[in-house]
Amino acid sequence: AFRKARKARVFLPRLVASMEVEETYIMIKPDGVQRGLVGEIISRFEKKGFKLTGLKLFQCPTELAQEHYKDLQSKPFFPKLISYITSGPVVCMAWEGVGVVTSARKLIGATNPLNAEPGTIRGDLAVQTGRNVVHGSDSPENGKREIALWFKEGELCEWTPVQEPWVKE
Ligand code: ADP
Repeated sequence: AFRKARKARVFLPRLVASMEVEETYIMIKPDGVQRGLVGEIISRFEKKGFKLTGLKLFQCPTELAQEHYKDLQSKPFFPKLISYITSGPVVCMAWEGVGVVTSARKLIGATNPLNAEPGTIRGDLAVQTGRNVVHGSDSPENGKREIALWFKEGELCEWTPVQEPWVKE
């Protein structure tokens, strides 16, 4: 089936979760902050066992929002997206762990919260695509790019959580 799919150029999701230590940029959007969901959202990544390496409350300037979402600049909703992201403080986070990029996307759930599974952040806590409370990088490359974009040097911490041997074999 795999060979057939490749021949037909059918997209197959990664079957095996990545075993690489990766970094991802997670951001609680202004609606998540305004609705008092900061603790709840951080808690989900903490409980999973990932390592927090950067954290700040931040009022995002327009130019940064435009740079972050530059791949979407031709979309009709782009102006609305930029005013949403700059409408109040966001919580910027860098998280590290084995397979963290894909895993965080699963914890977050589908872009449209009405399609997001119960148990995911968007599935449990949001209703509309334009108010979907959280962002997560979609690839390890974008994880690195976005962490570099949102954090200055000296704002990230290298540390070893005491729980590490109880999370990793
Ligand atoms: P995701 O955040 O799940 O990776 P996308 O990269 O497709 O999703 O879009 C980035 C963000 O742009 C979404 O999280 C959402 O806030 C916003 N967005 C996407 N599509 C729409 C839409 N049709 N209408 C309004 N906002 C949208």
